[in-house]
Amino acid sequence: MRPLVFAANWKMHLGPGEARDYLATFRHAYAPVAGRQVWFFPPAVSLEAVAAGLEHRADLLAGAQDIHWEPKGAFTGAISGPLATQAGARATLIGHSERRHVFGETDEQTGKKVGAALRSELLPVLCVGETLAQREAGETGTVVTRQLEAALGTLATESLDKVTIAYEPVWAIGTGKNATPKDAALVHAEIRAWLKGRNASATRILYGGSVNLKNARELLAEAELDGVLVGGASLDPAGWAELVRTAAA
Ligand code: PEP
Repeated sequence: MRPLVFAANWKMHLGPGEARDYLATFRHAYAPVAGRQVWFFPPAVSLEAVAAGLEHRADLLAGAQDIHWEPKGAFTGAISGPLATQAGARATLIGHSERRHVFGETDEQTGKKVGAALRSELLPVLCVGETLAQREAGETGTVVTRQLEAALGTLATESLDKVTIAYEPVWAIGTGKNATPKDAALVHAEIRAWLKGRNASATRILYGGSVNLKNARELLAEAELDGVLVGGASLDPAGWAELVRTAAA
């Protein structure tokens, strides 16, 4: 059984002091539940505060929102895998739609970042997903497969098993429009088939895109979903604790 992952992407919110307060409230509101992990992706400046605020609980983990593919060098504004690890990260998002569509990150770069994450012993969370125009043109499968091939195509099964994939349709992120559970499950099944073709069975597949307290349970009722990646609805610690506690049976 793959454990259920509830991943919180704070985006550009919650500085170190706010992160400490958040974690204090969250830890109080949420006791560990067997088979459930909660991963936090704060902005880089808050990574250390979050890692410390987890208080060594085995069900909680801190991660970076992005890393550079080089381990060090003249890359102003970027952080590397080794730097994120030093700050307490154990995972990193890669290829989030905002990195791809706001910052122009390419498929090739996501592949280099996955390699860099694995070299730093960070668990890569690769985000994939189609735009609305691509969905309407019937290109969802082609786009997602291209993103998987580019980022993960050269990995051995052993490495693929360390990867988490987040299917996040671009049109559903931060818009209040989520994919229906059936639509999400269909794409998850395609991703699962791609992984099976490479003998990887431990890779988790999360869904992300306007997940909230109201729709999380219905989405997670789909057996194809191993968890959720949540932006807006993860910013309130009490609400997030309630979502993680109640979203699965
Ligand atoms: C995200 O940031 O990955 C995300 C899914 O955001 P939201 O939940 O706000 O749509």
